[in-house]
Amino acid sequence: MTDVTPSLPVYLDYAATTPVDDRVAAVMQRYLTVDQLYANPASRSHMLGWQAEQAVEQARRQVADSLHADPREIVWTSGATEADNLALTGFMRANRERGMHLVTSIIEHKAVVDTASALELEGFEVTWLTPGTDGCITPEQLRHAMRDDTALVSLMAVNNELGSVNDIAALAAVAHEFGAAFHSDAAQAIGRIPLDVEAQGIDLMSLSAHKAYGPKGVGALYVRRHPDIRVEALIHGGGHERGMRSGTLPTHQIAGMGKAFALMAQEGDADQAHIAGLAERFMAGIAQTGGIYHNAGDGHHVPNIINLAFDGIDGESLLMALRDVAVSTGSACNSASVDPSYVLLGAGVPRSLALSSLRFSFGRFTTEADIDHALGVLQHAVSGLRAPAPAGSG
Ligand SMILES: *Cc1c(COP(=O)(O)O)cnc(C)c1O
Repeated sequence: MTDVTPSLPVYLDYAATTPVDDRVAAVMQRYLTVDQLYANPASRSHMLGWQAEQAVEQARRQVADSLHADPREIVWTSGATEADNLALTGFMRANRERGMHLVTSIIEHKAVVDTASALELEGFEVTWLTPGTDGCITPEQLRHAMRDDTALVSLMAVNNELGSVNDIAALAAVAHEFGAAFHSDAAQAIGRIPLDVEAQGIDLMSLSAHKAYGPKGVGALYVRRHPDIRVEALIHGGGHERGMRSGTLPTHQIAGMGKAFALMAQEGDADQAHIAGLAERFMAGIAQTGGIYHNAGDGHHVPNIINLAFDGIDGESLLMALRDVAVSTGSACNSASVDPSYVLLGAGVPRSLALSSLRFSFGRFTTEADIDHALGVLQHAVSGLRAPAPAGSG
């Protein structure tokens, strides 16, 4: 047992966003104010501009190194949402002669799902794969969906609601067998599973800083150079980022993302080992209460995301009862709606259980005291909500 009192509310929503690591914030501070390196990194006419450019290029190398990529393959974006848009739309539009067919899955992040739907309206054809109850797409499934005119396959590395892990190396190999390119949304994967664009054969990879202790509002798209992957720009302007994404680079955001990814490369394994211990403690506590199922818990999944169904309990009511524990129903992007999560339904969770599900996600700063507090509150709330209604209450 720990005798430390957690600070409240206990934050167990790291899959929605992470706090910025103090060491990242310290780096970001250097690129903002008048006595610092605030210049435009595209300014070639003075030293202040070169220094800002150096900071951007150092960050590009830090991000590239964490993926075993070349820095020239990193394109800065405003986040993983924009990176997904650029990967799917930019690639499909630039490679019409290769084919008009795209393969993805029904449990991708909305940034992929909605972009693929928009491409359907533009005349492209999409095959939507359904994962197994483990939340994973198999290489055999993908092989059956491949066609002569398939230009691109987009399948995520780690699912943001379930924590399920796809075998992206095996899936990329199938895409390549058919001459298609392979994109993966790795926003939840960096620092959580090994990523190596060379070994895994990835052609396009979407990244976000704020899921990895960096700032919100910055991300990147990895775009392979050998063989050359062509992507058409969605945002036109000064021709920044080798014409793929115009706009003045946000030096402080980019330097922060570089530092965050460098820290992930150094500490990601230790973070995950720490989190695996916490997850074990959490699941042991959960096992004390009956009628709780781990959604997609059978397959390969990361320890930092645990999605639980509380049989017979409405998820929204449970969320209310967990006032000082910050967790999420469905994905953060849908939390205003009471529709069951499309990801849970997509992975075969029955509708009633999907409405009874909460996502608990842990991170670098989660403590045993946090877990113990959450377990206490959870057990109290579950038994309260399961207690028979008093007689006469109708
Ligand atoms: C958070 C997330 C995104 C969106 O990233 P932003 O940087 O917030 O735009 C995309 N895909 C996945 C899997 C995510 O978890």
